[in-house]
Amino acid sequence: MKIKTIQNKVKVKPNLSDYKKTYQKFNWKDYHSELEFFKNNKINAAYNAVTRHAISNNKNKTALICTNGEKEKKFTFSDLEKQSNRFANLLTKQGIKKGDRVFIFLPRIPELYFCFLGILKTGAIAGTMFQAFGHDALLDRLKNSGAKFLITDSELVKRIYGIKKDLPKLKKIIIVNKRKVKRGEISYPKEISKTSSEYKIKEMKLTDPAFMLYTSGTTGKPKGVIHSHQAILQQHLTAKWILDLKENDIYWCTADPGWVTGISYGILGNLSNGVTSLVYNGKFSPKNWYKLIKKYNVTVWYTAPTAIRMLMKAGTTIVTKSNLKSLRHLCSVGEPLNPEAIKWGLKAFKLPFHDNWWQTETGAICVANYPGMKIKSGSMGKPFPGIKAAVLNSKGKAVIGKEGNLVLKPGWPSMMKEIWRNQKKYKTYFKRGWYFSGDKAYQDKEGYFWFIGRADDIIKTRGERVGPFEVESALVEHPGIVEAGVIGKPDPMLGEAIKAFVVLAKGYKPGKDFYEEIKNFVKKRLAGHAYPKEVEIRKNLPKTRSGKIMRRVLKAQELGLDTGDLSTLEND
Ligand code: ATP
Ligand code: MG
Repeated sequence: MKIKTIQNKVKVKPNLSDYKKTYQKFNWKDYHSELEFFKNNKINAAYNAVTRHAISNNKNKTALICTNGEKEKKFTFSDLEKQSNRFANLLTKQGIKKGDRVFIFLPRIPELYFCFLGILKTGAIAGTMFQAFGHDALLDRLKNSGAKFLITDSELVKRIYGIKKDLPKLKKIIIVNKRKVKRGEISYPKEISKTSSEYKIKEMKLTDPAFMLYTSGTTGKPKGVIHSHQAILQQHLTAKWILDLKENDIYWCTADPGWVTGISYGILGNLSNGVTSLVYNGKFSPKNWYKLIKKYNVTVWYTAPTAIRMLMKAGTTIVTKSNLKSLRHLCSVGEPLNPEAIKWGLKAFKLPFHDNWWQTETGAICVANYPGMKIKSGSMGKPFPGIKAAVLNSKGKAVIGKEGNLVLKPGWPSMMKEIWRNQKKYKTYFKRGWYFSGDKAYQDKEGYFWFIGRADDIIKTRGERVGPFEVESALVEHPGIVEAGVIGKPDPMLGEAIKAFVVLAKGYKPGKDFYEEIKNFVKKRLAGHAYPKEVEIRKNLPKTRSGKIMRRVLKAQELGLDTGDLSTLEND
């Protein structure tokens, strides 16, 4: 496919002004001064996210604007500090100790943020779960983690009653919205009013765990990833240099804290930079989203390809009508960002979306497009300073311009500490002195990284290897297609045949030659062997709660096989 380069002009000087120079001389230790440490090199991520701002000139600055689209509540850094202290006191009184797992199962309401930070202050490990999770997903996580406390509300708790008998380690449930609760439950409003708003925060070792999170489940059963307090160093610095957060920004990360993006850049990295963050607890619709950007004058917006594709479906007229003048910087993560989406962003917002790559396991962004740096449409960008990334061929040799395994040199601050109680799985990530991401990529001569696909999703057809991303990107260039998922299915002649599942644009009526037209459309854009042999129209594609296309589900459905773990499947 022809590569488009975008010059990526910026109106305001980026926080990272010289990527190349910074990368060359970078040392993490030199940036410890960005954070605050206790004596003996101890740290607490919550102290850095909130406390230090609450005792500075930022104390009366708005830290969070929480809205459901109608009502809003604002909290200053000082409010956040006091509320999380109160919760830390509540937990301590109830016997929670360092290392205990405390899980949160809540919508994006203020208590989610108070509780998350409060848990970190006590030295316990915070876990988060999407509010849409059903029994199986909840049971898996609460059981595997051995969670001792669960924080939820009077509606969501009903999903816990049916599984509670299988959770002997779950000692208490805290209900955030009721004064009257059942036996064995704690009323948050009742108990919190009895607590002090002062708390002596626990001083943690750099590698002590702070939070745990299960991966998105795109490729199989989710893994319980543990992150340490020191991860905040990378979350802070990437938020500063990649999201380019500045003092007066109104920043909106659209991710739910049930997904790692909603923690690293919806709580920790953003608060640590002392900016005002918007939290939206409401339904997605282009109209609702644009209304929020307009109302709150959002300047920096961090979202995901799946959302961008849905906005694309709604067109550019609604963007123009919304008159969004405040936006300054746009970023995207979670899935490959199709060049078509960048093109659309430029047309709609007059700004490019900056793609960046990372994983639950990496804890923070590792490869990115930086503000001010030339964007090659479809590329994930370049490694963050302090991160050594490479593409290794099957012999373990670093290669340029060729497909291979995307690997990182272990030792970056936000690297996962462990896979919970599964050392064997943890070890599988590390080979030959590298961390293997499980993604296939290539690096070009200028050092840009390009995503090809997840190792499991690569298609071998006519003796060639094809990444689903390039086929999907070509498909969504077609005006009638808004979303595409591509798989390989066994074929006696081809090895594997490419099959595409497509979602049509609203109002688009496919002609009788639609399938032929699509094949030719892709053929023109990609190498001859990479066009789909079959195309199927779907109303929607199976996706995870974090919005990723689940190709393994498409494949299992196509081949009549077991669809495997579906606990993270989005089904409404
Ligand atoms: P699981 O590990 O349970 O199968 P998952 O890998 O989707 O789920 P996450 O940790 O949320 O769980 O996602 C990380 C993965 O998302 C990456 O390995 C990569 O495949 C994909 N990804 C993230 N950002 C990008 C990006 N900018 N471009 C391409 N792929 C991306
Ligand atoms: Mg993964």
